[in-house]
Amino acid sequence: MKEKTREARQEQRIVGFVPTMGALHAGHMALVERARRECAPVFASIFLNPAQFGPNEDLSRYPRPLEDDIDKLTAAKVDGLFLPDAKEVYPHRFSTYVHVEGLSERLEGKSRPGHFRGVATVVLKLLEIVQPRFAYFGRKDAQQVRIIQQMVCDLNLDAEIVVCPIVREMDGLAMSSRNAYLGSEERKAATILYRALHAAAAEAKAGLRDSLELQRTLHKVLGGEPRARVDYAEIVDADSFEPVVRLTRPAYALLAVHIGKTRLIDNLLITPVGDELHVEL
Ligand code: AMP
Repeated sequence: MKEKTREARQEQRIVGFVPTMGALHAGHMALVERARRECAPVFASIFLNPAQFGPNEDLSRYPRPLEDDIDKLTAAKVDGLFLPDAKEVYPHRFSTYVHVEGLSERLEGKSRPGHFRGVATVVLKLLEIVQPRFAYFGRKDAQQVRIIQQMVCDLNLDAEIVVCPIVREMDGLAMSSRNAYLGSEERKAATILYRALHAAAAEAKAGLRDSLELQRTLHKVLGGEPRARVDYAEIVDADSFEPVVRLTRPAYALLAVHIGKTRLIDNLLITPVGDELHVEL
């Protein structure tokens, strides 16, 4: 992998990189398509990173449709696929981890201790191996991409992080490899995340800047779905991920909700532009 991208860089070509954990869906493919528009060559990786899963999480049952994934990436004309082995990524005596302080402790980090340490470590390793000019991430994992941006800045990495919009199913459910866990009744219930964010978005668009009010709306809508168990539903500053009182700067409404045994996340980006609030679902 290192040789391939080194050659491309020597030829002054613009290397694009899309890291994934596989079980690819249209959300992943949108990252690949964007990368293909902006870079050549484009490399994708599939690595189900054990370091970002807790002991009681879903690593063992995470979907692994490798043949389908390869077909999708081939059809999307990526120039290369990096499929490292866990033993190669974390060899015997592996002992160096990256911890992005502060941002990693809240929200996802609080519910999933050690998760972002695993993410930051593997993303740093992948960026060091591939050394892309541009690396593509989804806003679906808003806190993750913010942490990666901080790491890239703090460690003076050369890659530019490109954040891509959330790709959704027709009914609004954010695409996720974990949606495959949902039974048919749960799948219907899972649209509650989108409906809650949509309700908050409508209020923000109408000019509501009080984040406690918006948070109340999120909880009210989520509370209407008996299968939903809320982990968190918060309005936070898009830069610090600290709670905000009034929307005067870009902010996220962030959701983590259990539907049955499946934990789903989603978010809404709210950006003040002059007197108005712009919303991106
Ligand atoms: P994962 O395979 O879950 O690690 O995701 C790989 C990349 O795809 C991450 O940057 C995710 O944020 C991104 N991604 C996952 N789902 C979506 C989606 N529905 N829309 C946009 N990007 C996504």
